[in-house]
Amino acid sequence: PQRQRHFTVTRRKAGILPSLEDLLFYTIAEGQEKIPAHKFTTALKATGLRTGDPRLKECMEMLKVTLKTTSDGALDRHLFKKCVQSNIVLLTQAFRKKFVIPDFQPFCAHIDELYENAKNMSGGQVADYIPQLARFSPDLWAVSLCTIDGQRHTVGDTKVPFCLQSCVKPLKYAIAVHDHGTEYVHRFIGKEPSGLRFNKLFLNEDDKPHNPMVNAGAIVCTSLIKVMNFMNKLAGNEYVGFSNATFQSERESGDRNFAIGYYLKEKKCFPEGTDMTSILDFYFQLCSIEVTCESASVMAATLANGGFCPITGERVLSPEAVRNTLSLMHSCGMYDFSGQFAFHVGLPAKSGVAGGILLVVPNVMGIMCWSPPLDKLGNSVRGIQFCTDLVSLCNFHNYDNLRHFAKKLDPRREGGDQRVKSVINLLFAAYTGDVSALRRFALSSMDMEQRDYDSRTALHVAAAEGHAEVVRFLLEACKVNPVPRDRWGNTPMDEAVHFGHHDVVTILRDYHTQYSPQASGPKENAEQNLDGML
Ligand code: GLU
Repeated sequence: PQRQRHFTVTRRKAGILPSLEDLLFYTIAEGQEKIPAHKFTTALKATGLRTGDPRLKECMEMLKVTLKTTSDGALDRHLFKKCVQSNIVLLTQAFRKKFVIPDFQPFCAHIDELYENAKNMSGGQVADYIPQLARFSPDLWAVSLCTIDGQRHTVGDTKVPFCLQSCVKPLKYAIAVHDHGTEYVHRFIGKEPSGLRFNKLFLNEDDKPHNPMVNAGAIVCTSLIKVMNFMNKLAGNEYVGFSNATFQSERESGDRNFAIGYYLKEKKCFPEGTDMTSILDFYFQLCSIEVTCESASVMAATLANGGFCPITGERVLSPEAVRNTLSLMHSCGMYDFSGQFAFHVGLPAKSGVAGGILLVVPNVMGIMCWSPPLDKLGNSVRGIQFCTDLVSLCNFHNYDNLRHFAKKLDPRREGGDQRVKSVINLLFAAYTGDVSALRRFALSSMDMEQRDYDSRTALHVAAAEGHAEVVRFLLEACKVNPVPRDRWGNTPMDEAVHFGHHDVVTILRDYHTQYSPQASGPKENAEQNLDGML
């Protein structure tokens, strides 16, 4: 392979093979001489990249300059090359479908459906303990996502600023661990769900707050961090603001947090020399940091991406800090619903009183859901619905099995490769007559009617090879379609006749006379039949 690559590179340099830029040109031009600029940007957006992505800055600037020199706003091969060459690696990755969600548009269509579904929900109460929260309309609803490759999708009120509130807790914990390491941070804070309300005046048996996701733990955590520019880096320099009004109101109405503060002070929970009241101020300020759904999705994506911000490539947090944070979000992030959320959704998340849910699909994407109405436990009603629906649709639950063929969608890159592998395994087992392998595939709910690039099914192959037992298994146990046509129009019966496999011809003919597509539907009975046959 080394030699092969060297060979390819030399041929490319010598102009024998088309350059990456030319390949990209041909891909997008679709046979035309020129690419209109809007065609390029439309194709780009379909991959999930944004024209404002910092990683495409050079390309976009060059595009702007170059377009001024054209009369028709279109790029020929030469101009196109000039525009794309400084970001060619990322662009090639995008158009060759090398991103974590290769088929981004269909995935986004699913997200939009889930969004619409949750939009219809009307329950819940907007928090009203301070006027800055009470003023939000209960109709606001937004979902934004950012993958670990920086693919973006956003739907609803995604540009409205709101306060992170408790969604900031995992972030400041991550910063504390990044700065000081796990051992030091956990001298002051536990790692166990409290089983108590988030703002309870209570410590664990060692007189430490239970974990950094409840107020007591988060207040102590605040005393361990200093710098704020972390927030900007986490969000890839997208919108991070501050609501001074919220800060003032939180402080004025924060009696409970003051009580916790004094209790923590009495129990010596802070590092030596800490000024408790200024830490409380800092705590209220952190709650009052403003984000938009869009910018917060980048923060979540940084957590999904092991601490590297996907759109700037900057390493913001240590892997240790991210792993700890995700673990504690998983067990303690959703108030008194944390256990159930871990059970049903199986993903790390943190919600806040402003209606945000910061959701992480590790190694895939970060999502921010935002809608102000909260359920009795303090979680966004629409947000919870969305998270639950997402995991019913896609195999994102931490304990969803990725290897066997569950019925959920796998939008990840490996999903595609897996499908190809599965056809090959299936047809190979049919070719060799390995009924036990076929039984295993059927049990793991593999689609037994899958076709290869010639539209050949396992039944075609088994019939052509004369594997009577395989043919019987596919027909009777799996109830596959007995008359699929391959790309030459041949059915399994044609194959069996052609190769003179009389036993197979008989099985197919007998089955055919019984089989009636109108009858109860073969698929519905398939599982029942499998139980009997396996
Ligand atoms: N400012 C609120 C508090 O500290 C945050 C509430 C929340 O989002 O859970 O009580």
